[in-house]
Amino acid sequence: RATEPSPLEDLSPTDLFVAVKTTKKYHHIRLELLLDTWISRNMQQTYIFTDEADDWLTNRMGRHVISTNCSAAHSRQALSCKMAVEYDTFISSGKKWFCHVDDDNYVNVRPLVKLLSHYNHSHDVYIGRPSLDRPIEATERLGNAHTRLVRFWFATGGAGFCVSRGLALRMIPWASGGRFTATADRIRLPDDCTVGYIIEALLGAKLIRSPLFHSHLENLQLVSQAQIPHQVTLSYGMFESKRNIINIRGALSLAEDPTRFRSVHCVLYPETPWCPAL
Ligand code: UDP
Ligand code: MN
Repeated sequence: RATEPSPLEDLSPTDLFVAVKTTKKYHHIRLELLLDTWISRNMQQTYIFTDEADDWLTNRMGRHVISTNCSAAHSRQALSCKMAVEYDTFISSGKKWFCHVDDDNYVNVRPLVKLLSHYNHSHDVYIGRPSLDRPIEATERLGNAHTRLVRFWFATGGAGFCVSRGLALRMIPWASGGRFTATADRIRLPDDCTVGYIIEALLGAKLIRSPLFHSHLENLQLVSQAQIPHQVTLSYGMFESKRNIINIRGALSLAEDPTRFRSVHCVLYPETPWCPAL
């Protein structure tokens, strides 16, 4: 039913709300790279959620930078607080699709729009990459000292995921106006798990798996060069103290482009002024 691909929806990038989660200490070491690459092509639909905006970021992003007033700690509570603000801002935006990414994700908006256009934004759609190969189990704290075991799938936040407006509106009783953090406290799991908990365990909708979303929890060397332009998200990071990056040949060396995001950007937009001539 709701999750079956429907005839192509006429969708454009302006129908998307792409939320990027960051924190003050990463404005320069992570976010600047994104502003130079994919965000520069997608200012209209991208919103940066940080704990504390600074002049540099505000100058570059204007009203698309949102200071959450959440703590800058990497605590479960602080991260849930940011997700709650992302969600509330999406609800008031009126856009058709909520997509969340981390500040170590490259978002290729063209294939993202293509993917989402196969679904109806007023149906229940939750799409992303599960981080585990089985559902997560959580102990749900109900009132009066009762608990219940719940099992559900969730999309890993570090690969990015999207939620349709129709489903986001159904999440209101559990997610809006500060209730997201209270819901997260019921299972004491991180923000991306809480999204899965609300959608699968509380609302009965199902995660749609897409192999087009990528986090640094997977081996990024396995994304083939030919497939890179078709991926919705990419990432970079460390795995067992080794660099985990996509394998892309290009005019930029590893030293010039350690994350490979600039090389990807130059393949997608070769006319970019700082891209080396082919
Ligand atoms: N993050 C944050 N506050 C912090 C640390 C991290 O908001 O104190 C954000 C960070 O900007 C990123 C996400 O949380 O968008 C995940 O952080 P990171 O990539 O460092 O961790 P991992 O991918 O290993 O979970
Ligand atoms: Mn990360």
